[in-house]
Amino acid sequence: MAGRVPEAPYNGNRENEEWLAATLASIGDGVIATDDLGRVRFLNSVAEQLTGWTQAEAFGKAMVEIFPIVDETTRQPVPNPALEALSKGECMTLAENTVLIHKDGTEKAIDDSAAPIRDVNGRVSGAVLVFRDITERRRLERQLEAYRRELEAANARLAALATTDGLTNLKNRRAFQDKLTEEIKRAGRIPSPLSLLIFDVDHFKQFNDTYGHTAGDNVLRSVARLLEETARTTDFVARYGGEEFAVLLPDTDREGSVVLAERMRLAIAQHAWRERPITISVGASTLSPPEKYAALVDDADAALYESKRKGRNCVHHAAQSKLGAE
Ligand code: GH3
Ligand code: MG
Ligand code: MG
Repeated sequence: MAGRVPEAPYNGNRENEEWLAATLASIGDGVIATDDLGRVRFLNSVAEQLTGWTQAEAFGKAMVEIFPIVDETTRQPVPNPALEALSKGECMTLAENTVLIHKDGTEKAIDDSAAPIRDVNGRVSGAVLVFRDITERRRLERQLEAYRRELEAANARLAALATTDGLTNLKNRRAFQDKLTEEIKRAGRIPSPLSLLIFDVDHFKQFNDTYGHTAGDNVLRSVARLLEETARTTDFVARYGGEEFAVLLPDTDREGSVVLAERMRLAIAQHAWRERPITISVGASTLSPPEKYAALVDDADAALYESKRKGRNCVHHAAQSKLGAE
């Protein structure tokens, strides 16, 4: 091993040189030392394996020749850290995504650092580069990143499932409650009116009994689609329960809510239904600051009951009951 260290930049005796050479040879990382002009003076055996150059071949050659490195993505040459350490007189580390091109043309992902070697007077007399093959580590990191993305996508799908109604693909009751809480807060902050419509399919039990549950399911899907098509982009349409739907109308006053409720009621009533005409009853409520928004759902529910009582296929707004108007 001692013979492999020509003119070692070490100022000790022969025994020390041998000890140093053996140490460098045993290191698990590749080690390359250069003189002050960046010419190779020493490679340990790991460096020989990783570069494909033997100590004898490499001796005296320019560092860049035996240690060609490029950015893995851009394929642009990367400045050699040993030469940088020489010119700057400081320790240097390698940019990420660097690959070393082996003498046989194959590539290895590497990680390295370089330091200037100083003589007893503090003058930079060479540089030492320590590097390791991180191909496997990088592969594992990428695999880990791919798994992380998959997990993220799965979580997003799960979150969507948790807030989606399986039959109609509308938002479900839980999502509606969350949205209601959010919109109530927002309406209080802005402040702005907030309206709610609750829809209930008329005589739906009878429909199921007559045409079967599957036909009933199709009706619910169509009702959902018609409500969504009629709603504005800012409205929030959800399946509230069995044959009940809710539409939250931000920034919408009483008049606006009744106009929209009527439009939705008509869209259902005028649809060309396969088995028999389908109608819905609608309960509407509106709250404006500084009223308490908590009453929004109860008011709409009571108004829906009123629509049923009046004969179904109609819209009733909670404010009508409060004013005593029919
Ligand atoms: P009303 O006009 O008073 O609302 O009468 P209704 O028959 O619609 O009301 P009721 O509450 O008596 O019945 C609701 C029916 O809705 C009973 C139930 O079978 C049906 N239903 C609830 N969820 C579903 C569903 O997911 N699919 C189907 N096909 N039917 C459903
Ligand atoms: Mg009902
Ligand atoms: Mg019903």
